[in-house]
Amino acid sequence: MSSSVATLDKITALCKRRGFVYQSAEIYGGLNGVYDFGPLGTILKNTIKNAWLAHMTSFAEEVLLLDGSILGGSDVWKASGHLDGFSDPMVDCLVCKKRYRADDIDLEKNCPHCGNKQWTDIRQFNLMFQTQLGAMADGSSIAYLRPETAQAIFINFKNVISTNRVKIPFGIAQIGKAFRNEITPKQFLFRMREFEQMEMEFFCKPDEADKFFEVWIERRKAFFLSLGLTPENVRTRPHASDELAHYAKGCVDVEYNFPFGWKELEGIANRADFDLTQHSKHSGKDLAVFDEATKASYTPYVVECSVGVDRLFLTLLFDAYAEDVVEGETRTVLRFHPRVAPYTAAIMPLSNKLSDQASEIYKKLKAAGIRVQFDESGSIGKRYRRQDEIGTPVCFTFDFESVEDGKVTARNRDTTKQERIAIDQIEGYVRDLMR
Ligand code: ATP
Repeated sequence: MSSSVATLDKITALCKRRGFVYQSAEIYGGLNGVYDFGPLGTILKNTIKNAWLAHMTSFAEEVLLLDGSILGGSDVWKASGHLDGFSDPMVDCLVCKKRYRADDIDLEKNCPHCGNKQWTDIRQFNLMFQTQLGAMADGSSIAYLRPETAQAIFINFKNVISTNRVKIPFGIAQIGKAFRNEITPKQFLFRMREFEQMEMEFFCKPDEADKFFEVWIERRKAFFLSLGLTPENVRTRPHASDELAHYAKGCVDVEYNFPFGWKELEGIANRADFDLTQHSKHSGKDLAVFDEATKASYTPYVVECSVGVDRLFLTLLFDAYAEDVVEGETRTVLRFHPRVAPYTAAIMPLSNKLSDQASEIYKKLKAAGIRVQFDESGSIGKRYRRQDEIGTPVCFTFDFESVEDGKVTARNRDTTKQERIAIDQIEGYVRDLMR
């Protein structure tokens, strides 16, 4: 259930307060566009990644995994087009020196920061972070932190196909960090300088690319809904022809309705044979494949699905965030799907005297692989609010009656309704929620 009450400020504050996300190097004043994930955030991130991996590898067509390097030499980024073309237009205010992405502001108007209207010319700013390999500072030692994970997949295409029993059509999927020196990182996790991507490149025969493009769009939409995103807040938007990269045969963005507008969550593209052809040309290595049926070589087409882990993380928070009134008190609640919630359940002894018995239940659930928290400090009301705020779907309270009747009180996060259930039914109850 989406709620219009969610704002970026509220989400950012909640993330800090509950240990989802911290500004990186906060004690030194913070590093702009860079974040650290706390204990709850790390669980949520891993859940997202595991769900994506499970989705990607659940279809009849083979999808293999890769874990490529972050550093790449100039030759790779020259071939991919990033060295020459991966830039944003930049403009500075001549008075206060504040820097903007030129397409983010109206240059006919005054500087939003100082109110003057004196701009530099627009320059192109390459978004790649450059570094140097080894001690020699000459041109050959220049390397770049990857601005996307996909290139490792293309340059290893022949390695993968020749070392695995795999036939076209098949995909290669990868999760990993990417780095972009964004001119103005903003909207918290939406536009970061260090972020994580989940990308899958699907290789197929040219005449099947249109079909697989449509197939993957449907699969990816279903994936987002399986994480519990509100269907009305998710849409697909085909790129207009003037938005399309010159080589792309088609591109669709999966968009989410953020408080700051409909924005891209994932890009799905039919990239034709652009990437493999480019790397063939620049490396001099033939990346074509031989088709036994026609006895001819061809360069496969590629359908790409590319989504940011952090952007999806932020999306899930916006979608789950709600405020309502319970017993005359406003509460904040994250209505995560139980599959996504960092903790699926919390065990709460009503009194310290009951801790030992309650912790037996906790240990058993934990050993069974359930994400469960043991919460024994503060009043029960306070503990419920805490669990609501981190999105725990159910709390089980162990009270003095539990000792007599072998039952606990199960309290539902969304309805706040309570019911007594037998202790030996807790595990099944929690597993049912996860379905
Ligand atoms: P934008 O137009 O927003 O800059 P893009 O079209 O350049 O994005 P892609 O290169 O298609 O983005 O990247 C694929 C996905 O990676 C995006 O859909 C997004 O989820 C994620 N992503 C890209 N840049 C960032 C960033 N700076 N911070 C967080 N996630 C990002």
